Amino acid sequence: MILSENIRSVVPYVPGEQPTETDIIKLNTNENPYPPSPEVTKLLHNRDFSLRKYPSPEASELTSAIAEYHHVKQEQVFVGVGSDDVIAMCFLSFFNSGKPILFPKISYGFYKVWAELYKIPYRQIPLDEDFRIIPKDYFIENGGIIFPNPNAPTGLFLPLEQVESIVAASPDTLVIVDEAYIDFSGGSALPLVEKYDNLIVTRTFSKSRSMAGMRIGYCIGSENLISTLNSVKFSYNSYTMSEIAIKTGVASLGDDKYFHSTLKKIISTREKTKAELSKLGFDFPDSRTNFIFAKHRSVSGKQIFEELKKKKIYVRRFDADGISDYLRITIGTDEEMNELLVQLKNILG
Ligand SMILES: *Cc1c(COP(=O)(O)O)cnc(C)c1O
Repeated sequence: MILSENIRSVVPYVPGEQPTETDIIKLNTNENPYPPSPEVTKLLHNRDFSLRKYPSPEASELTSAIAEYHHVKQEQVFVGVGSDDVIAMCFLSFFNSGKPILFPKISYGFYKVWAELYKIPYRQIPLDEDFRIIPKDYFIENGGIIFPNPNAPTGLFLPLEQVESIVAASPDTLVIVDEAYIDFSGGSALPLVEKYDNLIVTRTFSKSRSMAGMRIGYCIGSENLISTLNSVKFSYNSYTMSEIAIKTGVASLGDDKYFHSTLKKIISTREKTKAELSKLGFDFPDSRTNFIFAKHRSVSGKQIFEELKKKKIYVRRFDADGISDYLRITIGTDEEMNELLVQLKNILG
C-alpha cells in the first residue's frame, strides 16, 4: 500500500517512568528534589497573569529577562517548550547540509530520534574507555555537531578549551552545546558565543530551576542564528510559550539567591553520595551534574535496578551496549539519598 510507504516511521525517545504513586523515591529523570523559587509559587498563588489574550509570540518578557541575566542582547535569545523544543528547532533550522551531523555515541537519546525524524544523516562518535569525549574525533567534515556539557548520562564535564577546539574546528557548521546540567558544574560555553558565530548554547529550567513541569528552555547564539530560529518557529506555531510559563520563568530568574542555595545543597548531597557509593563498591565517572552514573563491581545493574524498584526507589537504566550495568541515579534530598544507601546496603549484603 502506497499510503503506508509514505507514513513517517519513527522510533520515539523513551523518557524515564513517571509513576503515579506518591510514596516512592524518584531518582530516575533528573528532576530537582526542591520546589521552584517561592517567587514562582507566589506568582501562581496571586494569579498574577492574564489568560484571556494570546501571549507574546516572542515571549519577550522572558527573552528580555534571560538576556539581562546572561548579559547578552535580547536578539540573541530564543525560548521554547523545554530545551527539547529548542534543540528540535535547531535541528530543523540548521542541519540541512545533507552531510552527517556528529554526536557522542553515549549521550542524550533524543539526538538520534530528532535526526531520524527530520531525516538528517548522523554519525555517533565513540567516547574513550573512561567515557570521555575526545575533541579531535570531531575535527572531521560534518553537517553539524551537538553534545551535552556535562555529558549525559555519563555526568562528565568537558573543559572549556576542549569545547572551544570543537567549535573552532568546524567554522562552517553549527555546533550546539547542550548545557542542561551546566549550573551544577560551572564552565559554560556562553562567553564563546561572542567569539564564534557557529555556536549555540542551550539551557533548560527543568533541572537546576526545578521547573520540569512548566517546560521552559532557551538558547543563546548570534543575532543571525536566533533570527533564523524565530522565522522557523513562526512558520510552525507562533504561540509555544504560555503566559504562565513566561511569567514564572521571569520570576525564577529574579530569585538568584534561592537558585544558588538549592544548587549548593544538591552539589553537597552529590559529593556525599559519591563517597558512600564508592564504599559500597560502585565505580562512576566524576559527575558534575545532578546525577551519578554508577556501576557496581560485582552485582549486575539489572538486578540492583529491579531490587530498588521493589523498595519503591526508581533509578534509570539504559539497556544499551557497554552501559547496561550502569544506573543513572538522580541526586535527591539528603534524606532520599540516605534511604537509597540503606537499601543498596541491604541489596548488596
Ligand atoms: C533533560 C535534558 C534535556 C531536555 O530538557 P527539557 O526538559 O526539554 O528542557 C536536554 N538535554 C539533556 C542532555 C537533558 O538531560
